[in-house]
Amino acid sequence: MTAILFDLDRTLVDVQSFTDYRAALLDLKALVGSHPERSMPATGWSSETVACMAILYELAGTDLWEEASRLVESHELAAVPVSSPMPGLELVDQVVSRYPTAVVTLLGRSATDAVLELHRVPIPVRVARRVDLRPKPAPDQLLEACRLLGAEPTTAIMIGDSTWDHQAAVAAGMGFIGVTNRGPSEFPPDATTAPDLASAVRRVLT
Ligand SMILES: [Mg+2]
Repeated sequence: MTAILFDLDRTLVDVQSFTDYRAALLDLKALVGSHPERSMPATGWSSETVACMAILYELAGTDLWEEASRLVESHELAAVPVSSPMPGLELVDQVVSRYPTAVVTLLGRSATDAVLELHRVPIPVRVARRVDLRPKPAPDQLLEACRLLGAEPTTAIMIGDSTWDHQAAVAAGMGFIGVTNRGPSEFPPDATTAPDLASAVRRVLT
């Protein structure tokens, strides 16, 4: 049976617009010092957001990861109370009642839980960033979500707003719907896209 995986930030709820990733990056640089600038997929995030996520990607599996993730998460948690639901969030309940569903996010687990509770998103299976999983754009988090759902990755569909979601879905062998949030598409021309979350949800419900 098809499983549906949702990205969280700017797919279900906008947290990033309210998160001080500039301050988070300063905290990270104080912790890790100079670091190689890893090339990551181009996406519409601020350069500070990309840099934070790239550093966490580099640190996955290392002793520094927990402290680095905690530093970033303090800024993410501060944004939760002012985070904003994406148009169509109320339709997600219909997906949950019909398909095995999970959230797969680069946010920390505490921030993920707080956001989903605040906006009453009824998806209990959540794969947030973890020390033992390479984050998106690697496929690891998506494959872990499928394992938790008992779903075959090849029958699953990832819904997300970023090229990082797209690359992770392709690497995991999954279907993908890119949510453009009514901006220009950042996805490859052959990717399936929807203008907003509501349209993406209707697509999997029909
Ligand atoms: Mg996102």
